[in-house]
Amino acid sequence: MDLYTFCRELPKVELHAHLNGSLSKSTMMELQRYLADSGIRDETNAFTDEFVLGAGDTRTLSDCFQVFSIAHALTCTPEAIEIATCLTLQEFQADGCCYIELRSTPRNTPHMTKEQCVAAILQGIQKSSLQHPMESRLIISINRSSNKDEVEEIADLAIEFHRKQPELVVGIELSGNPTVGEFKMFVPALTRAKLAGLKITLHCGEVCNPKEILEMIEFRPDRIGHAICIHPKYGGTKEIWTALCKSSIPIEVCLTSNVNTKSVPSYDSHHFKLLYDAGLPIAISTDDKGVFATSLSQEYRICADTFNLSKAQIAQLARNACQFVFDTRIRNKIQEHVTEFMNKNNTAI
Ligand code: 5GP
Repeated sequence: MDLYTFCRELPKVELHAHLNGSLSKSTMMELQRYLADSGIRDETNAFTDEFVLGAGDTRTLSDCFQVFSIAHALTCTPEAIEIATCLTLQEFQADGCCYIELRSTPRNTPHMTKEQCVAAILQGIQKSSLQHPMESRLIISINRSSNKDEVEEIADLAIEFHRKQPELVVGIELSGNPTVGEFKMFVPALTRAKLAGLKITLHCGEVCNPKEILEMIEFRPDRIGHAICIHPKYGGTKEIWTALCKSSIPIEVCLTSNVNTKSVPSYDSHHFKLLYDAGLPIAISTDDKGVFATSLSQEYRICADTFNLSKAQIAQLARNACQFVFDTRIRNKIQEHVTEFMNKNNTAI
């Protein structure tokens, strides 16, 4: 089996995917049709081409935060959010994903409240589960640009939805422009969510900020995303690198996202190698498959090609990631699924 087919057929778990960053061109077109049919003014037509930050694009991580407004303009009603959820989940399923934790920031728009936004995503997840076998869960996002009241409001929402649907709403996360806000402002809300049973993942080390990175690691989140500026070679310090190594916190690694936003100069120099060689727990993820024109199987393939990993090593990465999913009840079941695939394809180590 060639590497392309192998990575596609390998059962994979996606643990870091932002809904509005994951919209494909065809999903955006479907949403434009829906808005036109509903008589809702859509100003995105001219801009959807700017949504993709491909290889060689001159835009950087800070510019990347502007492109999400294009997706947000399209997912402005409960119906639109539900359509976006269903189509996006369908694409992950078609790419060989067996479990996904989709994440999204609840938004108020002229057509919906934050609560309706979350309910619509959950509706999309439930509808999708009737159509395909992939297991889907939701992580609620807090944007770093939010004020204190908004942060508390989102934590309340996450706790309430988790209480009502613990089988679907499994976590809360901190994302948004990493140069805005201070981690300590989010600690009370995140602590409340943690005590209510939600798992926590934090965007950590996207930019150099050793003090904040150490605070994040010491907070003991259940996972972190990116983890770029941690080792001294990547602008971190010996102290935070040692803290990360001791912590065993699983890391959601997003190769193409980091390269296309110029957070790392190239795939070859990506910190994946450092994390992998140090034996740290890693989950290969897409981040924003629409914005970065990628897929989960493509991320696995790039990883194999760049770092010269065998099919067995790639499959082992996929297998390990099953132990980092927030729905702890399902970890062994999905891991068995990957093991079966490995046995069938003689890639068991
Ligand atoms: P949404 O939460 O609206 O479904 O997805 C888009 C949002 O996810 C963005 O507005 C941003 O807050 C967050 N996001 C997406 N990609 C990244 C990333 O690479 N880094 C950070 N820090 N946040 C991101």
